[in-house]
Amino acid sequence: MDLNKFKDKNLVLSLAQAIQKKSNSFGLLRIMHVCGTHENSIMRYALRDLLPNNIKLIAGPGCPVCVTSSRDIDAIINFGIKNKSKCIIATFGDMLRVKGSQYSLFSASKAGLLNVKMVYGLDELIELARNTKKEVIFFSVGFETTAAPVASVIKNYNLPENLSFFSVHKYTPNGVLELLKAGKINIDALLLPGHACVISGVSAYEKIADNFKLPCVAAGFEPADILSAVLMIINQIEHKTSKAENEYKRVLKYEGNKLGQKTLNDVFGLTDSIWRGLGIIRKSGFDFNAKYNFLNAKAKFNIQFSNKYIEEQKGCRCAEVILGVIEPTQCPLYAKGLCTPYNPIGPCMVSDEGTCRNWWEVKGEI
Ligand code: SF4
Repeated sequence: MDLNKFKDKNLVLSLAQAIQKKSNSFGLLRIMHVCGTHENSIMRYALRDLLPNNIKLIAGPGCPVCVTSSRDIDAIINFGIKNKSKCIIATFGDMLRVKGSQYSLFSASKAGLLNVKMVYGLDELIELARNTKKEVIFFSVGFETTAAPVASVIKNYNLPENLSFFSVHKYTPNGVLELLKAGKINIDALLLPGHACVISGVSAYEKIADNFKLPCVAAGFEPADILSAVLMIINQIEHKTSKAENEYKRVLKYEGNKLGQKTLNDVFGLTDSIWRGLGIIRKSGFDFNAKYNFLNAKAKFNIQFSNKYIEEQKGCRCAEVILGVIEPTQCPLYAKGLCTPYNPIGPCMVSDEGTCRNWWEVKGEI
């Protein structure tokens, strides 16, 4: 598919004009997205500059690495340190540099405290386990987009006996629902994550649209996708409706991927989960069902969790960034150039999906 047409300057400007024209008919409109890739596109194409002042695009909890609890990171690091001679901790690259209370996986490995291996994909993970006698534990991070392929591999492959998984996967719809219930996010509409909705479906957000009277629109990642979705939200507001809609029809089905959902449900169940800086969120994490619990590293090795963990590094305001309460440049550590991608203090500066990282890539130091 030729994606260039979704970047076409004339199309993008005409969408921006259509939004501008309608913007006088309402006051402040706060639209939150929950996807790091949306923030990446919004920054890269300067889409906020194309919108009228009363329409605010707010970055929400859309980066899985950013919401991974320090408690989980500490647990895997402490286990890896105690069992250095017997195990390898594997994970995807953007998880490596997120700090727990003291170390990140990268810094602990650099200090020679444990064995860490970055993998690019699940095939590489399986190969790694096949080629070693050590136990390989995959620190498995991501929203339903990543949890579904992990579940598929677990269900359909004959995995080596020395491979197990430490799941820190999160389920976006319930995360957002519970944050809304708790009054922790203050918004007028939701731009739904195109990638994650491929699995969960746009339908997973009907409850949010109904219960909170919030227009919800799933969007793709090109500039015309995002502006079209904003226009669809405005149309809902004009018609005084609030429903879950799909702008990204070329990729995702309204009801999501049924096979992916079944695979996920076969392997994992929803459990209460700690989101970094946001506390415990009901039924927002994926953990193993009984049938596959033999692959659950937490149970297999009786991994211990401490109650003495530090969610925020001193001065870090990631929790407020994740909830859309402040913009990255309002964090003093950003403003003073103390937190950068080269020396990330908080998780939002680490991953390509982190809001602070995306702002820094475009704005640099201020
Ligand atoms: Fe956290 Fe750094 Fe962002 Fe501040 S600039 S909120 S410390 S990631």
